[in-house]
Amino acid sequence: MISNRVNSIKPSLTIASNMKAQELKRAGRDIIVLAAGEPDFDTPDHIKNAAIKAINEGFTKYVPGKGTPDLQSAIQKKFKEDNNLEYDLSNITVGVGGKHIIYNAFSATINSGDEVIIPAPYWVSYPDIVLLNSGKPVIVKCGESSGFKLLPEDLEKNVSSKTKWLMLNSPSNPTGSMYTKEELMALGEVLKKHDHVYVLSDDIYEKIVYDGNTFHTIAEVCPFLYDRTLTMNGLSKSYCMTGWRVGYAAGPTNVINAMNKVQSQNVSSTASISMAASVEALTGDQSFITSHNESFLRRRDLIVKNLNETPGLSCRVPEGAFYVFASCKGVLGKKTESGKIIEADGDFMDYLLEEVGVAGVQGSAFGLDGFFRISYATSDSILEDACQRIKLACSKLS
Ligand code: GLU
Repeated sequence: MISNRVNSIKPSLTIASNMKAQELKRAGRDIIVLAAGEPDFDTPDHIKNAAIKAINEGFTKYVPGKGTPDLQSAIQKKFKEDNNLEYDLSNITVGVGGKHIIYNAFSATINSGDEVIIPAPYWVSYPDIVLLNSGKPVIVKCGESSGFKLLPEDLEKNVSSKTKWLMLNSPSNPTGSMYTKEELMALGEVLKKHDHVYVLSDDIYEKIVYDGNTFHTIAEVCPFLYDRTLTMNGLSKSYCMTGWRVGYAAGPTNVINAMNKVQSQNVSSTASISMAASVEALTGDQSFITSHNESFLRRRDLIVKNLNETPGLSCRVPEGAFYVFASCKGVLGKKTESGKIIEADGDFMDYLLEEVGVAGVQGSAFGLDGFFRISYATSDSILEDACQRIKLACSKLS
C-alpha cells in the first residue's frame, strides 16, 4: 500500500527524539530534554498582539500562499536591509515553516534521479525531503577539522551532470558552524564552473550569531549566483515562533512560480494570522533578539566548557545557532555498570537517557557518526543540571 518514496525515508529523528523524551517526562520520569531545536523563550508580546488584532479584525480568511502584500513587502525589506539582496515581490514566497519551503523547492524542481549535494553533518530532514521528491541525496562528509564545513575541493569532486542543487546551511543545525565570506566565495568559485547547479541557502539561524562574527549569505557575496540561488529563512528560531509555521524564500522567478504552483495544490498557504504576526515580527521591535542572544551565548559557553571537561567528550566552539555537536568517540567501546558496551553514538544517547535522564540526538541522525547534538536553548540552571548528569554518566563508564 505504501509508496516506494515513503518507504525510502525515515521519520524525522529530531522530532522523534523530542517526542520520546517528552512522553517519558509526562509519564513522570525526571528527564531533561535537549533534543529539540526550539528556543525556550516565548513569542514576544508585540508579535502575539498583532495576531490577536488580526483575529479580532476578522483577518481570518484565505490569503495568498506566496504571502500577503504586507508580508511580502516586509520580507523584501528584510532581504535588502540585512543581506543587501534586492528582490521584486514576484521573487518572494512564503511557506508553512522552513521545512515546507525546502519541500516546495525540491518538489518544484527535482526530476527523478537529480542529485542534491548535502554537506554532512546536515539537518536531518534535507536528505529525506530529496528522497520524497525522487531525487538522490549526495552526502559529502565534512569533518571537525574543517569546522564541519564543506571544502571547495570536496564540492568539486561531487558535482556531476545530474547535480541540481547544493544545500548550504549557515549557521548550521546541528553544528552551529558558520561559513565566512571567504569560504562562501571559495565555494562560489567552484559553482562558477558548473552553471547548471543551483544553491539552496538555509539561513534560518542568521540572527543567532556570537563573538562579533558577521553573517553572510552566498547570493550576497557571489552576485553571479544571484540568479541561481534560493535564499530561505523563517520566523521559528530568532522570533521564537516555532508553532506559528512561517518560512519564506526569495529566488529566481521561475523557481518561485513553480513553488507557488506546488503550494496551491498542497496547503494553499500558511495561516492568515501567522502572516499578520510575521509582518510585526519582521518590521517591529527587534531588541529582544540581542537579549536572547546574550542568554544563548552564556549557555553556549557553559555547555562547551562542561562537555570539554568531561572525560571522553569534546566539542568545538560554535559560531552561531543554539546547538553543540560534540564528539563522543572517547566513550565508544566503554562498558556501562550493567555491562552494556557503548558501541555507537545512538547507544550513548540511549545510555544518557536511561541512566541520567538527559535527551540529545545522535550524530548519525545528521550523517556523521561518533557525535551527538545538544540543543542549549534552555535555562542556565537546567543546562547546569544536564552537564552534571552527563559528567556523572560518563564517570560510571569503564
Ligand atoms: N529544526 C528543529 C530541530 O532540528 C526542529 C525539529 C525539526 O523540525 O527537525 O530540532
